[in-house]
Parts: sequence; structure tokens; C-alpha cells
Amino acid sequence: MSLLSMHDGILYGPVNSRRYGRSLGINLMPVANKLCSFNCVYCHYGLTARCTLDAGKYDSELPGYEDVVSAVESAFKSDVQFDQITFSGNGEPTLHPNFPEIVDAVVDLRNRHRPNVKVALLSNSTGLVREDVQECLGRIDRPIMKLDAGTAKGFRAVNRPARDVSFEEISYLLSTVGDIFLQTVLVDGHPSNVKPDDLEAYYEQLAQIRPTEVHLYSIDRPVPDSHITLVPPDKLRQIAAEAQSQTGVIVRVFHAL
Ligand code: SF4
Repeated sequence: MSLLSMHDGILYGPVNSRRYGRSLGINLMPVANKLCSFNCVYCHYGLTARCTLDAGKYDSELPGYEDVVSAVESAFKSDVQFDQITFSGNGEPTLHPNFPEIVDAVVDLRNRHRPNVKVALLSNSTGLVREDVQECLGRIDRPIMKLDAGTAKGFRAVNRPARDVSFEEISYLLSTVGDIFLQTVLVDGHPSNVKPDDLEAYYEQLAQIRPTEVHLYSIDRPVPDSHITLVPPDKLRQIAAEAQSQTGVIVRVFHAL
């Protein structure tokens, strides 16, 4: 088995999701190489040497605003059926310099062509350092933001962020934006984010951030770092129950990332 291959255009799918039905993906990152502000130990796309918060230097590889709008408009006008349109793809979507403008255009197209389709974002949360990204989250129906650790040490071990990303800043910003879903990937082995101290610190973060819901996952596919292992479903369920009883936040388990 190999790692997932990169998406080779602006749109991909629709893919079936148990939670969201048929989801059409929007890839705002380059087609050939992952561009992300993290290098998560479990990333299905493998490691990238292009781990940065500043996508500006890769501008020529990113799809332009007009191209994205035109592709999405064609999809809305086509007879392809989907329930959700999701910003995701080959890295971190909010790194795109025009992310807020693109969100506005996609929401406008959705309103005009298919008002029942939901607009979603899968993000690693680092884009929150931009005020225009923070502001546009309110216009996205399902902003799904990543938080895998309760401490800066655990964050560095699991997410391996770009040098200028601060755990404390991201954690604080997550607690200020409101109405978000948090997505957490739990892994064991080296590194692990399921040791008792890690989980206690993580629950404290949930209590501060108070998301609408937390979605817990583990890995189910090949990953670039062979020292990590999956967290079995019964342990995920036990962690979810503990997190929910300690924080009052709804915590749900999904078995496939
Ligand atoms: S945030 Fe997503 S794309 Fe980026 S390294 Fe982590 S899993 Fe991969």
C-alpha cells in the first residue's frame, strides 16, 4: 500500500462521507506537491519540505481566483450531485492568499445555484493568524478545525509545524472564533498523544475552546512515519466519553480519517 496520491486539479470527488453525504472537494494548493504549515506524523500525503505559513513564494503554483470560481461555477451548473463542497486538498487551504475572497465567491455561487449544499472547510487552524481568515469562518457552514494536542510539546511532536507557528497563539485564537467543529487525530507509539498527561492537557483545551462538537479519529491508512500506531476504536470511545464528561462538549468518534 502507498500513501494517497495528490489531487491533480482544483476540484476532486465527489467523495462519500458518512457524516456529510457526497462532498465535492476544492483544492487551493499546488497539484504536484503538498504545501502546508504542518508536517503531521500521520499525513497521508507524506512529508513536505515546503512547510510554511507563507504561501506567497509559491504563488505561481496556486490556482488563481478566477480559475477557482469558474471551476466551482461549472460544478454547480453541472448535473453532478453533491451535498457539501469542502475546502481541503493538497495541504492547508487557508494558506491561499485569496482564501477569504474565494470563500465569498463560493458562498455566493452556492446561494444562487444550490442553496441546500453546505460549504465546509477542513483546516489545520494555522490560518487563524490572519484576521481576514478569522472573519470569513462565520460565512462557512462547517468550519472544521484541527487540534491534536494539549501542549506546545505535544503539538510540535505530532503536527511538526512551520517554525513561526505558535501553539499558544493557535489555541487562543480557536477559543475566540466560536461556532467551530474541532477535529482531532489520536495516535500511539512515537510520538503519542494519548498518554494520560497528554489527554488531561487536551481536555483542558477543549474546555477553553468550547467547540460545537469534537470529532475524534485515528489513522486507518499508511502513514509516512512508521513509528506510530492506531488508537483502537474502543479506546477512542473511552477517550470521547471521558472528554465529554470532563468538559461538557459533545465528542464523537469516527473510525476512518
Ligand atoms: S495539516 Fe493536513 S495536509 Fe497538513 S500535514 Fe497535517 S494532515 Fe497533512
